[in-house]
Amino acid sequence: MGGHANAGYHPLTTETVVQVVAPLNHFADVNQLEIKEIGDGNLNYVFHVVEPATGKSLIVKQALPYAKVVGESWPLTLDRARIESEALRRAAEYVPALVPKVHHTDERLACTVMEDLSDHVILRKGLIQGQVYPKLAEHIATFLAQTLFHTSDFFLSPLDKKEQVRAFINPELCKITEDLVFTDPFFNHETNDFPEALQSSVEALWNDLELKRETAKLKHAFLTRAEALVHGDLHTGSIFVTADSTKVIDPEFAYYGPIAFDIGQFFANLALNYLSHFHHSPDPQQRRTFQEYLLEVIEETWARFKEQFSQLWQTKGQDVYMQVAGVEDDFFERLLEDTIGFAGCEVIRRTIGLAHVADLDSISDEETQLRLKDKALTLGSVLIKQRRQLTRITHLSETIRGVA
Ligand code: ADP
Ligand code: MG
Ligand code: MG
Ligand code: MG
Repeated sequence: MGGHANAGYHPLTTETVVQVVAPLNHFADVNQLEIKEIGDGNLNYVFHVVEPATGKSLIVKQALPYAKVVGESWPLTLDRARIESEALRRAAEYVPALVPKVHHTDERLACTVMEDLSDHVILRKGLIQGQVYPKLAEHIATFLAQTLFHTSDFFLSPLDKKEQVRAFINPELCKITEDLVFTDPFFNHETNDFPEALQSSVEALWNDLELKRETAKLKHAFLTRAEALVHGDLHTGSIFVTADSTKVIDPEFAYYGPIAFDIGQFFANLALNYLSHFHHSPDPQQRRTFQEYLLEVIEETWARFKEQFSQLWQTKGQDVYMQVAGVEDDFFERLLEDTIGFAGCEVIRRTIGLAHVADLDSISDEETQLRLKDKALTLGSVLIKQRRQLTRITHLSETIRGVA
């Protein structure tokens, strides 16, 4: 600290990015680079840097000192670039094939130089198009089990773990989640964003005291439960895929939080995609097949996650209580309950909160979009309120099928 917070920082341009990549000796001739900014530009720049002669390329992702949302702009810590770099490096210790390789971190410029994954597509886009990814469940289950187990008290010594908690203190990004996922959608708050025709359904949700009472518990868990280093933003826009490769990107929201949050956010985005296929897949047979595939991804991810996490628990568990009869069962029982609850919160916030998903928002037919958003609200509420009764992963898929 000391001095002013952002000393030496300046936003990069397609002209100045070369200064960041030149010292890395990655390219044959840095005077021959083609550079394009390809990010969405709300929080970060993403520069694609390619050398046509060699075909070599890199990505430079830089945090901006502010966030732009609906025309407004507020300051946002550059420290999230450090968090993102560190979280990617941490994940690479356990699952190097499932994250982009980090070549360089520049803390002064708040940027990460990483592997170019332009041969992959964003999972959300692929799923909207009805693409099937046969390895997705296996890969995400592995990512979750390995990263979450190895950063938790089940594996780290209590002293190491607290040091890790400290290294990943991420209050400003957590505040965004606390507000946008757990609070604003459940109250009449100005950040909310939904069509007028949904007003009565949204008001019913705001007036549902049981729903709010249950959501309060989930928010409290997010605020207080430093269980493992979670990704914190594991929606389908943070996953890059090909037919046989999966890469998790964008962990700038990483912090020590509840393990169930990552799993629940992933499942919620699959559930939203499921609903969206009532529009995106007009042929009923194709639609059913694809929707069932999505539910299989949920079930297989959970099963494989549980199997791997359990294997790690049995072979690498560090706490004496982990061998006591029933302790592991209790852990997974609570984990599924919380996963389903967090999934419910994510489904609701992506429907009426500030940040929507293209799965539903890209639906051109207004009436269909409305009907599906209404279903999403029902699904989210049911998941939050009935999570204790949904004691098997198949209960989650049955609930999604039932609401739809
Ligand atoms: P943000 O935090 O602003 O959402 P992301 O890390 O999600 O930034 O990146 C935004 C977009 O930039 C991605 O959707 C993808 O299109 C592109 N992108 C990000 N990282 C890479 C990469 N390693 N390789 C290729 N494209 C990338
Ligand atoms: Mg983005
Ligand atoms: Mg991000
Ligand atoms: Mg992103």
